[in-house]
Amino acid sequence: MRNPIKDIDSAPAVLAEYIEYLRDSGVKEQWGPGSFRWTGGKPEVAGPKKPDAGNTDVQVPRTLDDVRAVLGDCTRCKLHAGRTNIVFGVGNPNAKLVFVGEGPGRDEDLKGEPFVGRAGQLLTDIIEKGMKLKRSDVYIANVVKCRPPDNRNPEDDEIAACEPFLLMQLAVIRPRIICALGKFAAQTLLKTKEPISSLRGNAYQYHGITLIPTYHPAYLLRNPKEKVVVWEDVKKIITLYNASE
Ligand code: URA
Repeated sequence: MRNPIKDIDSAPAVLAEYIEYLRDSGVKEQWGPGSFRWTGGKPEVAGPKKPDAGNTDVQVPRTLDDVRAVLGDCTRCKLHAGRTNIVFGVGNPNAKLVFVGEGPGRDEDLKGEPFVGRAGQLLTDIIEKGMKLKRSDVYIANVVKCRPPDNRNPEDDEIAACEPFLLMQLAVIRPRIICALGKFAAQTLLKTKEPISSLRGNAYQYHGITLIPTYHPAYLLRNPKEKVVVWEDVKKIITLYNASE
């Protein structure tokens, strides 16, 4: 599980290969839980494996707009019932760095944009004051794209329904670094139940992309002393960011 940082230059090639694989497979829109999965080796896609010669309706997401179109007015899980807006993601479609949070809260649900509440302000400070980047330089998304009621934790079926869209976003953006904010992002992406306290402080490989887990900004608001260790994670990200093209 704990892979050292290695060969981050190969990340875009691996993801490009995945997109190419989907394109060549002639996959129609069949996204749903388990339909878009990448195990780290040969990508797995449920659905037709051979292009259909007469089929002109092939939808392979190549841009974030494509992914958003495939997501549509989503009713794939029960969270849709309580949402005001789908919170798809925001930022640079060519970002080298993607932040992945847990799920929208009230402010995000109302605005349709991730990390715009108090925790969002702290994340913005980390990006702008800590990393000396602009929020618009990076991309920000969540594991689930609709607000869980009363800000409860996202449930397994909700994560399973939404994860393919996060994976597609990452495949399209092809970042060099993913910063997983908190337990749900880190555990979902790394397919582990290890606590965030033991995941953070390490660097992992996520389909060839370097993944740095750290504490969620909302946790930092409740536990400001932990900002010290998050700063260690942020410094690691800055070093990787500056070393990548
Ligand atoms: N917390 C998250 O995990 N995501 C948001 O978008 C806002 C708060």
